Amino acid sequence: MRKPHRPFARARVLAPLALLAAASLAAASLAEAQRAPAPRDWRDGATCYEVFVRSFRDSDGDGIGDLKGLLASLDYINDGRPSSPTSLGARCIWLMPIMDSPSYHGYDVRDYYRVAPVYGTNDDFKRLVIEAHRRGIKVLVDMVINHASSEWPPFQAALKEPASPYREWFRFAPARGPNNRWGNSNWHKSPVRDEYYYGFFWRGMPDLNYEQPGALEEMKKVASFWLNEMGVDGFRLDAVKYLVEDGAVVDDTPRTHAVLREYAAHVRAAKAGAFTIGEVFDSTGVLLSYYPDQLDAYFAFEIADSLIAGVRRGDARGILAPVLRLQQALPANRWAPFLRNHDQPRTRTELGGDLGKARVASFLLLTLPGLPFVYYGEELGMTGGKPDERIRTPMAWSTTAPHAGFTAGTPWQRLADDSLEANVAAQERAGSLLAHHRALIQLRASTPALALGTLEPIAAGHPAVVAFVRRTAAGSALVVANVTASAVRELTFDVPMPAGRRQSRTLFGDTERWEIRPPSAPSAPGQVRVPALAPYTGVILEFAVIP
Ligand code: CA
Repeated sequence: MRKPHRPFARARVLAPLALLAAASLAAASLAEAQRAPAPRDWRDGATCYEVFVRSFRDSDGDGIGDLKGLLASLDYINDGRPSSPTSLGARCIWLMPIMDSPSYHGYDVRDYYRVAPVYGTNDDFKRLVIEAHRRGIKVLVDMVINHASSEWPPFQAALKEPASPYREWFRFAPARGPNNRWGNSNWHKSPVRDEYYYGFFWRGMPDLNYEQPGALEEMKKVASFWLNEMGVDGFRLDAVKYLVEDGAVVDDTPRTHAVLREYAAHVRAAKAGAFTIGEVFDSTGVLLSYYPDQLDAYFAFEIADSLIAGVRRGDARGILAPVLRLQQALPANRWAPFLRNHDQPRTRTELGGDLGKARVASFLLLTLPGLPFVYYGEELGMTGGKPDERIRTPMAWSTTAPHAGFTAGTPWQRLADDSLEANVAAQERAGSLLAHHRALIQLRASTPALALGTLEPIAAGHPAVVAFVRRTAAGSALVVANVTASAVRELTFDVPMPAGRRQSRTLFGDTERWEIRPPSAPSAPGQVRVPALAPYTGVILEFAVIP
């Protein structure tokens, strides 16, 4: 993994030589042609990057990250070049809530039509979108429609005035409703009169009532505003499994599915190509009930957990199971693998601080099918555990500036203890976790097999080794990873290889001593012999058809 992007395979070719080695002369131009397909859909080969604006970069010294800071850092995310040594190459950003809110995290919105003043103005946001688009970055914003802030004017009106037309946008009752299935009450005493209102998460976040048309019509208006006036490319929708309650059942109800269906249809009609991705924090089985005609995509929490658990235990068996289940059910651009998000302890912390483990976990994430999401700072190996503020700490940019270059003032939250190491400037060097992410994200974008290929597992013959092929008609890529701290020796894989003349290239990692045996018959697999796979190492070997 130390030398990604090595241009040509060093893999030693065994007999028959001609089949694999024929193309070395024409290989450069051929490889270029194969490397630059016009993507049919921006999601093909894309990686998305989750940003907490408050913690990304502060432009004005108030200690709070803002839109101008993010704008100044867009080249770090993607500078528009297909191959860049100083840019991640992410094709999409998801901004955690940026609308006006009384909280630091923004998941309780006070004004759906206004950017939080500490982050900037609506015009700052529009400028950010233009600059993002110029670099090939799609912009998704967090949209919170399950609940609003208790300071949202419609809730205040409904709370204070029983005759208010906004009453039906919320759920009020003279007594607490039933407890939920976990035995808790989500009903809160009104501070104004002798009644209760429903709020799944807490009293400061009253749920919207989608049994009546008013709230949904308003949320559709909000969606249209952001798509058409503010220019966004879509939404990450928060907590969608809790949209509509049915007595004691507060999640995954039939009405929740119906509301999502209607909302998503509105988004598609409001802007062609708009993309919606939902948070359904649950098993794959539950996730599948949110298809085929609701939101475009959802986060695959089970993949996140299988990757983290497999790497933590050093056991590769089971890592691919949730991937295969989703792949079988859905097109790859409709589900999103990730490692950790803003609600979970950071990857490196989950992996006991081990950089090798973090490295192989991200290698797997970025070689799987699906639309992967990387939480900001994960590419640096930032650490952090609960409480939430500590998994959302400021990004570290510089090893010399105060507060690691995040702010010239006092940061809203103390930086992580490892900010001199999990730091962009410190990792501007070959072999860093940042360089590893840049190489993999750009390889994924430029390699058809990694962008579009179907995943076919390969028997690895060792519990610490994950092996699979990503296959398209034009070629395939063999992906192999060792998820343990020990070298694994003498592996032999049966690898399906494209028929006809083909060439092999090492795309990532070290294949110096690997041996490739072409298929003995057209329908038979070839073989790849690996004398040793170093600890926490990932390798990608491509087989391309020579036309
Ligand atoms: Ca600021």
